[in-house]
Parts: sequence; C-alpha cells; structure tokens
Amino acid sequence: IHYSSARFNTSASKLSQCPADEGAEVAFAGRSNAGKSSAINTLTQHTQLARVSKTPGRTQLINFFDLNIEGLRLVDLPGYGYAKVPIALKQHWQKHLDAYLQHRQCLRGVVLVMDIRHPMKEFDEMMVQWCQSTGVPLHVLLTKTDKLKRGPAQSTLLQIRKSLKAALGDLVSVQTFSALKKTGVDQLKERLDAWLLP
Ligand code: GDP
Repeated sequence: IHYSSARFNTSASKLSQCPADEGAEVAFAGRSNAGKSSAINTLTQHTQLARVSKTPGRTQLINFFDLNIEGLRLVDLPGYGYAKVPIALKQHWQKHLDAYLQHRQCLRGVVLVMDIRHPMKEFDEMMVQWCQSTGVPLHVLLTKTDKLKRGPAQSTLLQIRKSLKAALGDLVSVQTFSALKKTGVDQLKERLDAWLLP
C-alpha cells in the first residue's frame, strides 16, 4: 500500500455520515496532543493531511482518507480529552466514538497513539478494554520517542508491551515512533499492510 496516496474522502459527525461500511479501514485514536496528527502526516508524507492543531472544534469529526487500493481507508478519530471544551461536547465525542467503534464492521484494527512520556492514561485504558471486549486488534504507537534517551525509551517500550501482552495477548503490538525523526514508519506500515491486505 502506498500510504502517501492517502486522500481526504469525508468527515463524519455521526455514524450515518461515514462512508459505506465496506472494504477495510484502520483507525487512529489518541488523547489530544498525543501526536496523532503528526503520526498520520508522517505516515502519509503529507504536511497537513491530519491538521496538526489543538483548536477545539476541528477535531470533533471522524475523518476518512482513501488509499491507493480501492476500498482501503485510514480513519482519524476525534482526539480525546481536549481540556478546554465543554463537558457536553466531550460527551458528544465520546458517544460518537463509541458508536463508530461498536458498529463499524470494516474496522481491521486500531492504532492507539500515546506520548511515550505519558503512556496509559484513562482514555488509553478504555481503548485497551474496548479491544479486549471486541477482539479488534490494537497497535500502540509510543510517539515523541525523540524526547527520551534510548535507555528510558526502550524500558518504557518493554514495560508497556509486557503489560498489554498480559491483557490482550496476540491482539496487541507496541512500537516506538517519532514524527520528528521519522523513526518507526516502516514498522507502522508493515502492521497496517498486514491488517488491510487480505
Ligand atoms: P494530536 O493532538 O494528537 O493530533 O497531536 P499533534 O500531532 O498535534 O502533536 C501535538 C504536539 O506534539 C505538537 O506540538 C507536535 O509538534 C508535537 N509532536 C508530535 N509528534 C512529535 C514527535 O514525534 N516528536 C516531537 N518532538 N514532537 C512531536
């Protein structure tokens, strides 16, 4: 798959606005500011595909991107937990995200983006539990690895991998990543290829 072929398809604010539930897609999730937009932009070699922005309002939509193979998509889920939005809006996002995760048949896996310096917060735990209950595979991207020295980065990787393997077994994989240094991109592509290609 050529991830640089990714092109914006549509935005959905509810399940009924999503593209037809056919083909196969992989969704990117993460807390606001974790580095999700930067990871998608690095993967696709676009500078602005997923807008690197912390502006509330821009990130409430589920964004769909088509890939170069018919029926294959990347999905950017709403960033979770932006501090400054009203609680009612947060609840709306949550419902919206829940509906997508529960009903989307063509979802092949979730990439959960975490800042390696702040892994496994409440939202991340929730996603792990969701994968556990649905059996949808999870790939954890520990990003901003360039912010840590190699030793601490490796020890966080091993520790997170160990605890997630205990909970999810073969359903989970974990890697380090840096959008700044562009490390971990090939490993991410391999995981996505394995999920998306029959
Ligand atoms: P999102 O809210 O999860 O989409 O996060 P963004 O992609 O907007 O990133 C949040 C902030 O972290 C921005 O200031 C980015 O420049 C920064 N950032 C994202 N990825 C990296 C990375 O790999 N390394 C470093 N050093 N900074 C990053």
